[in-house]
Amino acid sequence: MNSEQLLELIASSLREQNVWKNSFGVFESDETLQLEPEKIGAAFAELNERLKENYPFFHPRYAGQMLKPPHPAAIAAYFIAMQINPNNHALDGGPATAKMEIESVAEIAAMFGYEQHLGHLTSSGTIANLEALFVARSLHPGKKIAFSSQSHYTHKRMCELLGVDTVEISTDNSGKIDLNPLENELKKGNIGTVVATIGTTSLGAVDPLDEIIPLCRRYDVRVHADAAYGGFFILLAKQEKPIIKAAPFLHLSECDSIVVDPHKHGLQPYGCGCVLFHDPTVGRFYKHDSPYTYFTSRDLHLGEISLECSRAGAAAAALWTTLKLLPLQPNSGLGTVLEKTRKAGSRFAGFLSKSDRWQNFVEPELDIVTYFPKTAPFSASSISQRTEKIFNAAMIHPTHPLFLALLKIESSYLKTKFNFIADQPTATILRSVLMKPEHLRFVPAMFEELEKLAGES
Ligand SMILES: *Cc1c(COP(=O)(O)O)cnc(C)c1O
Repeated sequence: MNSEQLLELIASSLREQNVWKNSFGVFESDETLQLEPEKIGAAFAELNERLKENYPFFHPRYAGQMLKPPHPAAIAAYFIAMQINPNNHALDGGPATAKMEIESVAEIAAMFGYEQHLGHLTSSGTIANLEALFVARSLHPGKKIAFSSQSHYTHKRMCELLGVDTVEISTDNSGKIDLNPLENELKKGNIGTVVATIGTTSLGAVDPLDEIIPLCRRYDVRVHADAAYGGFFILLAKQEKPIIKAAPFLHLSECDSIVVDPHKHGLQPYGCGCVLFHDPTVGRFYKHDSPYTYFTSRDLHLGEISLECSRAGAAAAALWTTLKLLPLQPNSGLGTVLEKTRKAGSRFAGFLSKSDRWQNFVEPELDIVTYFPKTAPFSASSISQRTEKIFNAAMIHPTHPLFLALLKIESSYLKTKFNFIADQPTATILRSVLMKPEHLRFVPAMFEELEKLAGES
């Protein structure tokens, strides 16, 4: 879908919506809201200029952090729904988009293999995880929550907020939770929930759910999957010849709760996380009364099972429309999009491993590649210096800029993998999130350009 088609879609939808709006009687918008055309022009000219201060997240040349624009269909649907600005807190505020939210969340739950669920959209992965941890605390008051040292930093913060004690479990040298120290903690009997990360933010490492689930069941401990980044990759695990390790994904259906971020790999604008619980009865922990809302229907209002109050109905409309057009299928729709990003990750890592200039830090499991230049001496300080030099030179290249990201790794951790000199506590390495399907085609050129830069810097 190009921008012409997008504009036409938005224009025709607005025309149709106006017919509906006018059916209530035509009215003038108030003069306090009316603006002078020159002032609008000036404000938007400045906005357009200011927005160029961004990195080009939309372009394959941007291979840095987890950032990309939503699908144009999601943008159009969001824009159209936002004209009405429904609020999915209550059926009073967003009857149409609340239904879209329920349907979309059911599709996501079905993708994970949940045969029953309770769930809703949230404004972010952080809030979605907060809800899962809140339910974890409610089910096991006084017990601890365990997560790996590579899990998202917000778990610790949200547990502080909830007043829950935490245990940090070390990781193995591929960045996954280490099962031996985990079991040692479980044996002590004071852990209520273990958080498994399906796609860590820094490395894209997938914790071995296929081993974590039976282990936790043995100790009668709950499992929460933070699949904010990696959850949608389950579609690839369902392909006939999976190009990812399928087992952890195929055990997501056995987790007590799952978080996934449609605003990461679900082609949505920011403001779209999702939390799912396997046991619908946990809705009881959210119980509250509201003197203002919940009047128009006896059906469940999403605000009754959510910690947040106002939420954008437009976010649900965008997700619902996107899922109609790019369904959660392994061999079509979103599955084929993710197949390309995953292939981009392994293709890029393949190029790096064949060159004697580069070292992959870990084998990428998804589409996040971490790597660094081989230096002499092979030390934390010289790796960091070369990395930063290449990172900067790539970004300021006059004709072929490349936007990468940096990642700090403990030298002690690097030492478990490589025979290098730990002359400072951490080393800075490169990280590329190849999360756009266009990255697959771009990888050979990107590698060539990096080779050149590494030769020059
Ligand atoms: C991004 C991310 C989060 C936080 O989600 P936000 O939507 O940024 O709040 C949590 N966990 C993981 C694994 C993530 O990748």
